[in-house]
Amino acid sequence: MNLTIVQVGDPVLRQTARPLTVEEIRSEYIQTLIECMKNTMHEAPGVGLAAPQIGLSLQLAVIEDKPEYCASLSPEQAKERGRYPVPFHVIINPKLTLIGEQKLEHFEGCLSLAGFIGIVARAPEVKVECLNEQGLPITIEAQGWYARILQHEIGHLQGKLYFDHCLHRSLTNIENFINFWGNKSVAEIKKELGI
Ligand code: ZN
Repeated sequence: MNLTIVQVGDPVLRQTARPLTVEEIRSEYIQTLIECMKNTMHEAPGVGLAAPQIGLSLQLAVIEDKPEYCASLSPEQAKERGRYPVPFHVIINPKLTLIGEQKLEHFEGCLSLAGFIGIVARAPEVKVECLNEQGLPITIEAQGWYARILQHEIGHLQGKLYFDHCLHRSLTNIENFINFWGNKSVAEIKKELGI
């Protein structure tokens, strides 16, 4: 079953989500919810979906960066973004640690701000301590685009949206990004926009 993705302005996107107990995680309800969120993320399509985005204020997100999504980038773009396929997995009650001084700037979008993207500076590396879909503790160490996805999804669990801290003058709809900006580097775009 596919779920409806809520859009910016819905108060649920601004709440701090509540953690789940291990008992809840192993319940049929949460296991079914994870399946539905996976299907919804694939359908969108997106590389991550957090529970608040389907109207539930729970500290749970699903993530998957499929090989075919990564293949749409040129080898240079993939290298610049540090983007590589990430298998499907679930993060629950995550604790995020940012690693690295130099932030990386790239365009980023969100299924709850459908149709738009903007430049967001993110830490190049993160450590995430969380529970998996079986309620077992796991530690994720991620770099590049995967680190960006984790920061974005965990932001949702804290009531944040990428738009809160993107370079606002860089905001564009996707059609205009393709028409006007798609073949330029972030540095060139910033210069042209005067930021
Ligand atoms: Zn999002």
